[in-house]
Amino acid sequence: MTDISFARSAEQAKNYVAGEWRDPAGEGEQDVVNSATGEPVGVTPFSDETGVNEAVAAADEAFEDWSALPVEERIQPLFELKNLLEANQDDLAETLAREHGKTLAEAKGELRRGIENVEVACGMPSMMQAGHLPNAAPDIDETAVRQPLGVFTAVTPFNFPGMIPLWFLPYAVATGNAFVLKPSERTPFTAMGILELVDAAGFPDGVVNLVHGGPDTVNALLAHDDVVGASFVGSTPVAEHVYETAAKHGKRVQAQGGAKNHIVVSDSANLEFAAEQTVSSAFANSGQRCLANPVAVVHDAVYDEFADRVVERAAALEVGDGLDEATEMGPLVTADHERTVREYVETGVEEGATLLLDGRERDSDLPDEGFYLAPTVFGDTDPEMTVAREEIFGPVLALIRAEDFDDALSILNRSEYGNAASLFTERGREAKRFRHEAEAGNLGVNIGTAAPMAFFHFGGRKDSFFGDLHAQGEDMIRFYTDETVYIERWPEE
Ligand code: NAD
Repeated sequence: MTDISFARSAEQAKNYVAGEWRDPAGEGEQDVVNSATGEPVGVTPFSDETGVNEAVAAADEAFEDWSALPVEERIQPLFELKNLLEANQDDLAETLAREHGKTLAEAKGELRRGIENVEVACGMPSMMQAGHLPNAAPDIDETAVRQPLGVFTAVTPFNFPGMIPLWFLPYAVATGNAFVLKPSERTPFTAMGILELVDAAGFPDGVVNLVHGGPDTVNALLAHDDVVGASFVGSTPVAEHVYETAAKHGKRVQAQGGAKNHIVVSDSANLEFAAEQTVSSAFANSGQRCLANPVAVVHDAVYDEFADRVVERAAALEVGDGLDEATEMGPLVTADHERTVREYVETGVEEGATLLLDGRERDSDLPDEGFYLAPTVFGDTDPEMTVAREEIFGPVLALIRAEDFDDALSILNRSEYGNAASLFTERGREAKRFRHEAEAGNLGVNIGTAAPMAFFHFGGRKDSFFGDLHAQGEDMIRFYTDETVYIERWPEE
């Protein structure tokens, strides 16, 4: 089969182990709900230690032959996977939008970013080369080679169920490792769809595996003797837990955490453009993006005009079911998450921020079922307020007045997170200072959402990242390989 009909029709998420679909057996499960309608989509049963052991054993068994194949052969199924992902992009996007709630355009967009990682990993024959220096010392040649290590796992979040598994899977297998994916229990069917295409792409059984589950499943993977390394993307407390647990068990680990990113708006900025980009950054994916900029720090001289423009644009966003083509912003992922985001809005009001746009006032326009909150904007937010500091992960934007550029930079740098930041300016000097002084891993200048292409790494700092090598690009090759250096001398007989 070269489509995702199995994932689309399944009511219960299945593991994919050694090239077969299997029922996860364990305690606990998660209902998967269409967040636009409240209707059930299916169930994710959690895998226990036995399920994890089966997947790791399958990967471990596949590793020996897979790693011994020439890299040129290992990338052939990746070319096929790229074609299959493209051919099935619409069906995958629909599956994704249904279980997640984002719009079809957003779902297609994230799949495109995922496919870009497959494309980059197809360049592995060049990227895996490390270096060679003849006569590095008298009569001695030195050659560095990159070698795969064994079984890697990746534990991924709900908010980009199509893209984030593909930050890891293509690089892991192209470098010669075997791979076990543990996707979010809230969005399992997109992962199943991708694995259905992996199955059709021609990877040998066991090279790529999928296990569903919750925290116990993750902990079993992190403690497993045959797992050599783990990638994690999710909230900061769990990222810290994964980093510590994996390290305690002797694994290499990269753990990307939460975020609270800032946009700085200079008094020189093109305000219409800055407002358009800020609204898109804060409210796309209903604010459920680690690269969203839910805080805008605005120079006092242009604050009022900027606030007016932002509110006007945010109020005009069409909110509704992501599967409806006209929708510009979908619902939040679960009823629980909607409750949490609404509690944050109340906290903002209690702490004295001014509600410039109250998404709750549009409740009567929105479908009764489904987990909606319309765009909400706080003005005159103090940087110390909860809504300015904590990750809300919803459609809530906080505007902060800054006296000048230095003040704005200092507000941004006081954040405990450091995933991304953007500056809107027409002054080169401010842009230069921003590049040197803003403390975040992804920096945009006149860019609303600073998302690097797949051939650059995706870096976070401070509480947004635990580890050293990041996702995507060159860092992934280093994460998935060890470098050995051969030092050779052949004396004359
Ligand atoms: P989450 O931390 O709740 O879950 C992420 C993964 O961790 C899931 O697979 C889940 O099953 C697992 N998990 C949850 N609790 C666990 C525990 N106690 N022990 C072990 N594993 C556990 O995150 P989420 O709600 O799915 O995703 C949203 C978060 O992800 C936000 O904080 C967002 O900023 C972050 N995120 C970060 C990036 C980045 O690149 N830095 C990218 C996307 C999302």
